[in-house]
Amino acid sequence: MTSVLWFKRDLRVQDHPALALAAAHGEIVPLYIYEPDYWAQPDVSGRQFDFVMESVAAVAADLRALGVDLTIRVGRAVDVLSGLKNQTGFDRIFSHEETGNGWTYARDREVAEWCRADGVIWEEVAQSGVVRRLNGRDGWAVRRNAFMRAPQCEMPMTLCGPQAVSDPVPRLIAPDQCPGRQTGGRPAVLSLLGSFLMDRGRTYRRDMSSPVTGEAACSRLSPYLAFGCVSGREVAQAAAVRQREVKGAQAGWGGSLKSFQARLAWRDHFVQKLEDQPTLEYQCLHSAYEGLRPRTPDPVRLAAWQAGETGLPFVDACMRYLNATGWLNFRMRSMVMAVAFYHLWLDWRGTGLHLARQFTDFEPGIHWPQVQMQSGTTGMNTVRIYNPVKQGRDQDPDGRFTFHLMDRSHRLLAGPLQRIFL
Ligand SMILES: Cc1cc2nc3c(=O)[nH]c(=O)nc-3n(C[C@H](O)[C@H](O)[C@H](O)COP(=O)(O)OP(=O)(O)OC[C@H]3O[C@@H](n4cnc5c(N)ncnc54)[C@H](O)[C@@H]3O)c2cc1C
Repeated sequence: MTSVLWFKRDLRVQDHPALALAAAHGEIVPLYIYEPDYWAQPDVSGRQFDFVMESVAAVAADLRALGVDLTIRVGRAVDVLSGLKNQTGFDRIFSHEETGNGWTYARDREVAEWCRADGVIWEEVAQSGVVRRLNGRDGWAVRRNAFMRAPQCEMPMTLCGPQAVSDPVPRLIAPDQCPGRQTGGRPAVLSLLGSFLMDRGRTYRRDMSSPVTGEAACSRLSPYLAFGCVSGREVAQAAAVRQREVKGAQAGWGGSLKSFQARLAWRDHFVQKLEDQPTLEYQCLHSAYEGLRPRTPDPVRLAAWQAGETGLPFVDACMRYLNATGWLNFRMRSMVMAVAFYHLWLDWRGTGLHLARQFTDFEPGIHWPQVQMQSGTTGMNTVRIYNPVKQGRDQDPDGRFTFHLMDRSHRLLAGPLQRIFL
C-alpha cells in the first residue's frame, strides 16, 4: 500500500509523527508542494521563501539517506495530489495538523473535500501540544505537557516507495533584502540548540529583553520551530535534560532554562488560541475595538514606521534591524507593535501584516494573538503602552544598538527622514 507523506510546516525527519505512521503503513511518496497562491498572500515574503527552499533541500537530503526521494511539485494542492494519485495510485495521505493562516485553512478544506470525493483517506496527526477541536481550556496544559514528555517518534531506519518526478521550482515571490537572515535547514538547528544549551543560554533570563544582548542570549530557534526543522518536543526535552544536568552545579542556568521552557509552552498556548479562534487573524478579539482606528492606515506614518524613519531613534533602530535580519527579540517586537498602534494610531491589521512579512519566523498562531495583545484589542489583557525613550534608555543605555545599527542594516542615517516625531 502506498501513501503520500505531505510535508508542510514540519521540514524534518526526526520526531515526525506523520512520517512514523506513514512508514509503518508501507511504501511512501514524500511530497512537498510549492503553492503559488500561498506565496501570493499578503503575510509571506521572499525571506521566508528562501528559508523554506533551504529547509526543503535539507529534508530532501535526509530522506535520500533513508532511501527515498522527496517529490517536489508546484501548483494547487488538489491538482498536485490528483496528478500524483494517477501516477502512483496512493490511497492515503499522512500529514500533521496545521494551524496556519486563513488561506491554508481554506486549502485544507478543499483537500479534505477532494479526498472524500476520490476515496483517499487523509490522516492528520498532532506534532505539538496544540489540540484540535478542543472543548475549552480546562486540562489543556496537562495534555500539552504530557505530549511534550512523551517519547519522541523514532526516525525510520529506511524508507521505500515509488519514484515520482519533481517539478523545477521557480522563484514564486520576489527576493527581499535581508543580509542577516538565518539559514534554513536542520544543520543550523543542531548548532544553535547546542550553543544555547551549553553556553549562550546561561544569561538568557537577564539578557533576553535587550536587543544588544538578546541576539546572542536568545535561542534563535524561532524560524526552525516555525517551519518544523525541529519539533517543539525535541527542544523542550533537550532543555529538560540540560536543566537536570546543571541543577545546583552551575550558577545562573536554572532560572534561564526555566524561563526558556516557559516560552516554549507559550508557543503552544498562543498557537492554540488561533486554532480555537481563526477569526483572530482578521477581527478584533473584542469587537468594541473595531473601527477605533481608520482601517486604511495613514500612508506617511505607515511608511515611516516600516522603514524605520519615524524619528524615534530606538524604534527606528529596531525596525531597521528587523528589516535587515528577519528577527527581533520579544520585548522589541512588543514595543514596535505598540508604538504603531498607540503612538501612530495605525490599525493592527496592516502593521501586523508588515511584521509578518519581515519575520523569517512568521508563525500565524503566535503572531496574530501577540499582535492583538500588544495592540490592546483583546479586551482581557492589560493595556501596555511602551515609552520608546524609556525603552531606549533601559535596553540600550549607551546607544550602541541604535548607532551601530546603521552599519548592520546597510543603510545610512543621511537622507531625507520622514520625521513624524521630531
Ligand atoms: C507582535 C509580536 C509578533 C510575534 N510574532 C511571532 C512569530 O510570527 N513567530 C514566532 O515564532 N514568534 C513570534 N513572536 C514571539 C517572540 O517574539 C519570538 O518567538 C521570539 O522573539 C523568537 O526568538 P527566539 O527563538 O530566540 O526566542 P526564545 O526566547 O529563545 O524562545 C524560544 C521559543 O519559544 C517561543 N516563544 C518565545 N517567546 C514567545 C512568545 N512571547 N509567545 C509565544 N511563543 C514564544 C518561540 O517559538 C521561540 O522560538 C511575536 C511576538 C510579538 C510581540
